[in-house]
Amino acid sequence: MNADPNGIDVWEAFLDPQTDYSLPDFAAVTAETLLTAVHTATDFARAEVAAIVADDAESTFFSTTVRFESASVPMTRIASVAAAIESNHLRPELTDALAEVWELLSAAQTEILLNVDLFHRIEQVSVADLNPEDKRQQELTIDLFVRAGARLGEEERTQMATIAAELTTLENSFSRALQLDTRELAVHLSEADSLAGMNDDQIAAAANRAAERGVDGYLLPLNNFTQQLVLESLDTAQTRRHVLNNSIARGSRGGDGDTRTQVADTTALRALQANLLGYPSFSSYAVDNQTAGNPDAAADIVSSLINPAKAQLDEELGLVRDRYGLDDVAPEDVKYYLAKYRADEFGIDSDEVAKYFEFDTVLTEGVFRAATGLYGVTFAPYDGVTAWHEDVCAYEVTDVTERPLGLVLIDPYARDTKRGGAWMDQLIPASRLTGLQPVVTLSLNLAKPGHGRPTLLNPTELTTLFHEFGHVLHGLFANSTYPSTAGTAVPRDYVEFPSQLNEMWRFHPQVLPHFAKHVDTGEPMPAQLVDALIASEKFGQGFDTIEYLAAAMLDLSWHSLEAGEHITDVLSFESEVLAAAGFSPLVPPRYRSTYFGHIFASGYAAGYYSYLYSEVIAAWVSEWFESQGGLNREAGDAFREAILAPGYSVDPMSAIERFFGTRPDVAPLLRRRGLAEPVTEEDAADSVDDEQSTVDAAPTAASANDEAPKQHANHAKVEAQLREHGIDPEVRVFAEATPTAAAAAEKIGVDLGAIANSLIFSSGGDPVLIMTSGAHRVDTDYVADQLGIDSLDRADKELVREATGQVIGGVAPCGHPAPIPTYVDVTLAEHPVLWAAAGTPNSMMPLTYEQLLTITNGKEITVARDDT
Ligand SMILES: [Zn+2]
Repeated sequence: MNADPNGIDVWEAFLDPQTDYSLPDFAAVTAETLLTAVHTATDFARAEVAAIVADDAESTFFSTTVRFESASVPMTRIASVAAAIESNHLRPELTDALAEVWELLSAAQTEILLNVDLFHRIEQVSVADLNPEDKRQQELTIDLFVRAGARLGEEERTQMATIAAELTTLENSFSRALQLDTRELAVHLSEADSLAGMNDDQIAAAANRAAERGVDGYLLPLNNFTQQLVLESLDTAQTRRHVLNNSIARGSRGGDGDTRTQVADTTALRALQANLLGYPSFSSYAVDNQTAGNPDAAADIVSSLINPAKAQLDEELGLVRDRYGLDDVAPEDVKYYLAKYRADEFGIDSDEVAKYFEFDTVLTEGVFRAATGLYGVTFAPYDGVTAWHEDVCAYEVTDVTERPLGLVLIDPYARDTKRGGAWMDQLIPASRLTGLQPVVTLSLNLAKPGHGRPTLLNPTELTTLFHEFGHVLHGLFANSTYPSTAGTAVPRDYVEFPSQLNEMWRFHPQVLPHFAKHVDTGEPMPAQLVDALIASEKFGQGFDTIEYLAAAMLDLSWHSLEAGEHITDVLSFESEVLAAAGFSPLVPPRYRSTYFGHIFASGYAAGYYSYLYSEVIAAWVSEWFESQGGLNREAGDAFREAILAPGYSVDPMSAIERFFGTRPDVAPLLRRRGLAEPVTEEDAADSVDDEQSTVDAAPTAASANDEAPKQHANHAKVEAQLREHGIDPEVRVFAEATPTAAAAAEKIGVDLGAIANSLIFSSGGDPVLIMTSGAHRVDTDYVADQLGIDSLDRADKELVREATGQVIGGVAPCGHPAPIPTYVDVTLAEHPVLWAAAGTPNSMMPLTYEQLLTITNGKEITVARDDT
């Protein structure tokens, strides 16, 4: 009999659940109750695991996999409560207890996932009679264990556990140091003159912040990212320099606030961890179960935007220099002049604009109204909730069926005890297993206005509110059986898509007129101002895109280290990476390594690219919503059911393809960012399709839909060339990528030797294709000798792409933009049927040896000395 995770008194330690939503009582949270609760939760999980292992009946899905899922529920709940407190209102007396909470949870989690007896019980479950959701849950559970190291030998498992514990400690110490340094580096100004350019409200807020800390004058606290928002207003260059210098100094000044050791040690340990699990780098491990599938696909989308964004930035800076007669712009001046230009060119007075975006009106008449228009859900204040801070407001959401759907807790204001940025969390994920309805949280960092004054949003904050609410809806609509796949529990590079999509409604003509009303007069925002605002939002996208891309590149580079590499000079590594990728020092990355909390303290390691990756989907789907007439209930309901509700209980990209009948392309993203399209439309489509190596294009899925999925352009090119040679193409597309010969052989069920790898080499920069049996490695010196050339090196991904139009892991023997000199491994002749990739990492096609020679016009060679 499975124990009921709701039945245990995990809450009793500090939570008499309040309300109908099992909402924990935050007023009762103390260091002791937190620790008691975490012990109760981990004891419960351990006892359940022991019971699963001791059960000598045959393993069933219910008795092992589901019971394991239930066993983790209390731990997840405590983690959510701890995270809510830590990020929203970290009272100093809880700091040590919270660090201990994370260490205890992480230790229990590691111990459970490395328990081989438990893993064996789970592996023995037969999937034959499971429904699709349960079957997927079974696969995801096995994957969770494998990725934690459950298949490793005893010694390696011990190493994994040690590394996991050290990484948790490093994350904690990174957060603490960063929080300390960010606080210490708040810009303290004694003279009002230095604040010239700020409006009265901003100046009053700065005086308040100083008073809160018991100092005279004014305090400008730092926001998370490099470019401080206040840089747009400050007229005094010296103050701007002071602010930017403080911002970029975070974590690199020595002392307790320095994070360089944590950065160096964390990245080195992650490389070791990945190596133990059989991956060449942490990024290949981290991206492996994401939508992108591999770090090259992630890096490709980042790289592909660098040039268009740079061109845009140059144009923006050119305009700024001309208008203000500047010879040069210093780093601290860029944001200031971009904002000034935006105001002057488009006639935007940011203080005046903010008067049309009063927080409560935006929330109820904008954000809520858009959700009602699309999905029929309604929102009403829900009294009597005690959250972590008195500023938090609760809203109950009612579904179209008029049944309560869940709760949203909104915490709008900045405070010293809150971390920077904006975020959403699933405090209680909805799931049929627990029978609980969702409680989700939305946190912002708006400046709290003086008493009796309204809270006004600038356009960035307006976007952020709509963005976070997209996550909120994803959480509220969750309709999974298992909490581990509920709502936003999807891959990082997919989770931002519903939120970025929701941003589209902020300026939408069906939404904006309802909320954009002058706070004093109630007058609607004039049409010219709306147009000017929308036009002005595209200005500055070159800068924003570049600073984002630089941070994404930095993240991928830190996580491409190999086991044994330990970069101690953090700042030099950073400048080398950025210079090598062609980023100018004029635009520092959105986060420098020493304050890159996303990747060193909050789960985005090798995942910062995700925002851009998701945005490709978001931009594409927003054009679809437009084509459906905007706020259309029918479209909204269908989208909710097919895309939002399933969470991770289905493969997200398969759901996209089933619903839309095709895959996203990158053109809508470029339009959304106002960037010029860098390449032909066809190439642009390829560059996104390439990322989606995990798309499920199984024929059954396609035929279940009225619209046939669009064929991948690379497959079409390969097939066309086969037909030219009188060969009937038989391209097979798989749900998962088969980037290596071993994976492909296993997938098709053939001998490794029958896999014909299309390997691209560089002979002094010119491509050479060597069709090699999966059973061999190419001896490059030996082959170079036979070909009479000086040397042969494995081609880098740029050369592969340029020569083949395909990506590593998916190169086909044909279908290239121009013929490539080709050599064919003679041992392939031993196999009656060969299998080669068909232009993407998730496709293969059968060929005979003769056919391979024909289509490649290849010459036979032996690729290694011992190949006899
Ligand atoms: Zn987001």
